Amino acid sequence: MAVPRTAAWVDSELAVHAYAAWSPPNAHHWAADGRGLNPQSLCEPLVYPNGERRTAMTEQDGFWPGGARLAVSVSMQFEAGGQPVSGAGGPITEPILAGFPDLGQNSFYEYGAREGVPRILDLLDAHGIKMTSFMIGDAVRRHPAVAAEIVRRGHEAGAHGRSWQPQYQLPRPEETEWIADSVAAIEQATGTRPVGYNNYWIRPGVNTLEILAELGFTYHIDDLSADEPFLQTINGQPFATVPYSVHLNDIASFDFPGFNPAAYAQQLTDEFDQLYAEGAARRRMMVIGLHERISGHASRVRVLDRIFTRLRYHQDVWWARKDQIAQWVLDHPGTAAWVDRGPAPVSGLPGRSA
Ligand SMILES: [Zn+2]
Repeated sequence: MAVPRTAAWVDSELAVHAYAAWSPPNAHHWAADGRGLNPQSLCEPLVYPNGERRTAMTEQDGFWPGGARLAVSVSMQFEAGGQPVSGAGGPITEPILAGFPDLGQNSFYEYGAREGVPRILDLLDAHGIKMTSFMIGDAVRRHPAVAAEIVRRGHEAGAHGRSWQPQYQLPRPEETEWIADSVAAIEQATGTRPVGYNNYWIRPGVNTLEILAELGFTYHIDDLSADEPFLQTINGQPFATVPYSVHLNDIASFDFPGFNPAAYAQQLTDEFDQLYAEGAARRRMMVIGLHERISGHASRVRVLDRIFTRLRYHQDVWWARKDQIAQWVLDHPGTAAWVDRGPAPVSGLPGRSA
């Protein structure tokens, strides 16, 4: 299939000119609830300093299904038992002596499968939210019934590598095997084949996106560059990025002294309010990243319960799985943001290998 070249397609020559004259796009759109919106500007192409161009849309379903104003994507990593037997980070901060299994630290990971997943699944059921769970192959092999239960409750199983270790350094055939192995584990336990991928610590290699496309994946999340999904051409076909989040990710405070429930709640609320306001004029997406062993603790779930209750007060929000978000932009390439970064070894960003 040929990639449609639309008004949203990157035009690098134009971007060079645009850069000099750039001012923060949509600055005048940021009034709460879209008040002060300039309707004229809705038809103007927006140009960004990195060279992206896109056309703002006015039609009902321009941004999201059903005319939703904002998409909110919740994810929950399933990693219990996928960590190395010794040396994984966690709340026990004193390093273990070399050559010993870290039994105490590993039990912190085990909490995710035993307590965290059931508690988070119940929370999401109570709010009618479906999420994406990125699963480590070794975690799934250790806890196949937990993986199966996540999918049975209506959530998406994405793949998160064979074990909780870097893959970007692997030669291409080994990396292909690394990814395919996690797919096989998930398929066997859940009966579903993942189409979305997340690397260990958000670090793809230069070949990763091409391998994912070859294996039938439609999207990855290892990109922190945008508050909306976007497309790029990989192996001659459109491939979706559904950007992840570090600042709204519970991993930022995995060592519990760094966690402040009130501050976390305020941050989530502010993020939502700002993106919701911008959502009047652009496709916007909010990403909440959870880990079963972190957000699955009782007090954390209480915070999330309060936040979800508040955010769900807005009716025009699409609480979506990441496969749905990826499919939406793949089905609407003419309205999607596109990037063409050139080869990853040159651009230094996730993309094609050459
Ligand atoms: Zn992870």
